[in-house]
Amino acid sequence: MTNHFSTQAVHAGNELPAPAGHPVSPAIYPAVTYTYDHLANLSAALHENAGYSYARYGSPTIALLEQAVATLEGTQEAVAYASGMSALHGAFAQANITPDRPVVAARNVYGATYTLLNQLYAASGALHFVEITDWDAVQAAIEQYQPRAVVLETISNPLLKIPDIPAITRWAHAHAAIVIVDNTFATPYLYRPIDHGVDVVVHSVTKYLGGHGDVLGGVVATTAQRAHELRLQQRSFGANLGPFEAWLTLRGLRTLALRMREQCVNALQVAQWLQGQPAIARVIYPGLPDHPNHDLAQQLFRANHFGGMVSFELRDAAESEVFRFMEKLRLIQAATSLGDIYSLLLYPAQSSHHALGREERLRQGIGDGLVRLSVGIEDVRDIIADLEQALS
Ligand code: PLP
Repeated sequence: MTNHFSTQAVHAGNELPAPAGHPVSPAIYPAVTYTYDHLANLSAALHENAGYSYARYGSPTIALLEQAVATLEGTQEAVAYASGMSALHGAFAQANITPDRPVVAARNVYGATYTLLNQLYAASGALHFVEITDWDAVQAAIEQYQPRAVVLETISNPLLKIPDIPAITRWAHAHAAIVIVDNTFATPYLYRPIDHGVDVVVHSVTKYLGGHGDVLGGVVATTAQRAHELRLQQRSFGANLGPFEAWLTLRGLRTLALRMREQCVNALQVAQWLQGQPAIARVIYPGLPDHPNHDLAQQLFRANHFGGMVSFELRDAAESEVFRFMEKLRLIQAATSLGDIYSLLLYPAQSSHHALGREERLRQGIGDGLVRLSVGIEDVRDIIADLEQALS
């Protein structure tokens, strides 16, 4: 039976021929829904996860990304999300945090994470912040509050503090709490939290994993059991990553090691150069011996790798001077993201930490003159030359 033109237009070219060879890169499957020759198989796909049925319940390109992240993080599985924030939201919701079994979170988390935790848990009293690099305070908080979960970042934003994840995880587990680590700044190339028993690893793939400033996405890497629960939750949360974004992220992952290596080398040189500048009051970089967590970074991270983020404080600068400095940059782009191949500079008081309000921001040690540089893979001489001309 030959169909008419409009039917052909709708259906022709929809059968994927079995390729004779193996494609060397993954395919993008944008299909939202799936058919089966036998409807019993569709039922199994819908209700028993025995195949694809509807894109909110999972789809092949997303599964490839999930496999890749699980492999890199060393976890059994991973679940992709539409953004880093939705990944964090999923991880928090799955942890079943209640006023009786609250969450203890690092005070210095990313601004939107701080806001999300407050929105979800502050009113019910299920939220306690702690200075995560103060071991006595962390021990006391876990003992006192008996939390269900401890939430922290491998390298905090923007002060680049590094908590003692192995010690915190041991203490949390001894008190029946799980540990949720946002590993966005470190990436599994520098550090795999799972190697120290962390239960749930979260990424904003928007940053280093994607790496090119063209994807918004997130992922939670964890055990098969937790991943199963997250997928069920995702059916109703619906914060799914799209297939094109998954594909772009996969493509970005291919060069994660190369990019991170270059960014770490560049960042150390930039930090060392900044230290010698009279206009700079303070340089924060875990690779500098004067960083308070330098020794811990050396123990935990890949040898001689301290990340691509450098924060520094312009001497005696208020907002107007910081703006003037930022507007003078030519190569480094003043933009609210990080982890890209491009160097990006952000003013936390204006963007990531604006919602905290000035008082809380200052309390957290994020001064009016503090800026955060995400060092890219450009030639480091050009990055330094740009900083030099802007500072002059
Ligand atoms: N976690 C960290 C450490 C971040 O820096 C960010 C964003 O800057 C997020 C999570 C949120 O990720 P997204 O913007 O992809 O939602």
